[in-house]
Amino acid sequence: MASAKIINPATGEKIEEYDRISASEASEKVKQAGKAYRSWKKTSFAERSELMNKLADEFETHKETLARLATREMGKIIEQSRKEIEKCAKICRYYAEHAEGFLSEEAVETEAEKSYVAFQPMGVILAVMPWNFPFYQVIRFAAPALMAGNTGVLKHASNVQGCAFALEDAFRKAGFPEGIFTNLNVSSGDVKEVIEHPDVVAVTLTGSDPAGRSVASIAGASLKKTVMELGGSDAYIVLDDVDLEEATDLATFGRLQNNGQTCIAAKRFVVLNGIYDKFLDLFTKKMKAAKMGDPMDESTYYGPMARVDLRDEIHEQVKKSITQGARLVIGGAVPEGKGAYYPATILAEVEPGMEAFDNELFGPVASVIRADDEDHAVKLANTSQFGLGSGVMTGNRERGEKIALQLEAGSSFVNKLVVSDPRLPFGGIKNSGYGRELSGYGIREFVNIKSVWIA
Ligand code: NDP
Repeated sequence: MASAKIINPATGEKIEEYDRISASEASEKVKQAGKAYRSWKKTSFAERSELMNKLADEFETHKETLARLATREMGKIIEQSRKEIEKCAKICRYYAEHAEGFLSEEAVETEAEKSYVAFQPMGVILAVMPWNFPFYQVIRFAAPALMAGNTGVLKHASNVQGCAFALEDAFRKAGFPEGIFTNLNVSSGDVKEVIEHPDVVAVTLTGSDPAGRSVASIAGASLKKTVMELGGSDAYIVLDDVDLEEATDLATFGRLQNNGQTCIAAKRFVVLNGIYDKFLDLFTKKMKAAKMGDPMDESTYYGPMARVDLRDEIHEQVKKSITQGARLVIGGAVPEGKGAYYPATILAEVEPGMEAFDNELFGPVASVIRADDEDHAVKLANTSQFGLGSGVMTGNRERGEKIALQLEAGSSFVNKLVVSDPRLPFGGIKNSGYGRELSGYGIREFVNIKSVWIA
């Protein structure tokens, strides 16, 4: 049976190798998760909250160790890994406090003596998760799903199996009974059997469009509910009344955070003609000044991409865009030496029909797009197969809000980079997926919304 080899993307060296389990071993673990569900669903919110708060303690106590593991396996800079672990603790505490309120019965006035809506757990939920936030993406699913009374099985990305096992360990140390959260180190080819397992009632996936389509169609054939959080090519409209220093600071951080590999990163900068050249000059200076290097070095601004194949893929996209007429301003060359590094790259005069406009660039590459006026900017922003996040940068909040409401996306932020916040729903439209995570909306995705009528 093949194993999952973990390569440090900063050095190209093998860190670890994890034996995969077979589809039948996975099936046995899912069965255990099903068994665990039948007692877990009977626990009170107070019992679940206590364990969820203990899980938050685990993240806080072992922050440095877990952060270094994430950085070693997928290359994000160490400070951002620490922030990711802090965010995991925050989500655990958020749902420990609010789950009961989100799922409390809602009385409805009818002719009945008593009628209401109850929110009941469903069973085992399968989570297929990506490597870009190897801890956070999993906890974003697990904290609400488990607080609702479900159990979870995880198929994590092959290149972050160390993080996957560390998560399973953290749940165990926090005191969650066996089978409540289980890592299944299966290959993606064996996911079909897991989805079809009778104990699995629903699937959530964060990742690429092809992975999403494959998993959603298998789940659909078995009539199992799915939530899909897929890619994005978020447009940020830069208006002519903007503070250019602030806007280019946001643009630089937004495009380079997590080494350019965030689904809600600012990817297409749609800039009004009047300030286009000034924006591009300043943005170029800042992107050039950002230091690429060892992600463990505290002075590094951005590290390598997660894998060499992903780096090579984005380089092909850059080359294709240039052939199609985009202008390379900086970057665009694979550096000598080991690791999956790719330099901060800017493509200017990007237009619809070019690779950089039409598809997601999941790395440190920014597309700068020229717009004639506000309406043209909105039209360009909405000319996309994706609809995850979006943004407006402006000196006038009301003008910004008016535009934000016209953008076709799951979220629109004015003068701030799109972030996920446990208090607000998170998800996309169009090819960015469907369903919502976080907030009260997220926890209600994996519950039976049940009508109760007492005549
Ligand atoms: P994938 O979508 O291929 O991987 C995400 C997860 O899905 C992994 O656990 C992967 O497992 C699994 N997976 C992949 N294909 C299947 C399948 N057919 N059936 C079941 N599970 C599957 O991401 P990549 O690592 O290949 O990254 C490629 C692109 O995905 C990026 O360039 C980016 O566009 C997008 N992406 C988007 C993310 C987001 O947050 N929206 C996050 C990560 C990637 P395994 O690792 O074993 O293949």
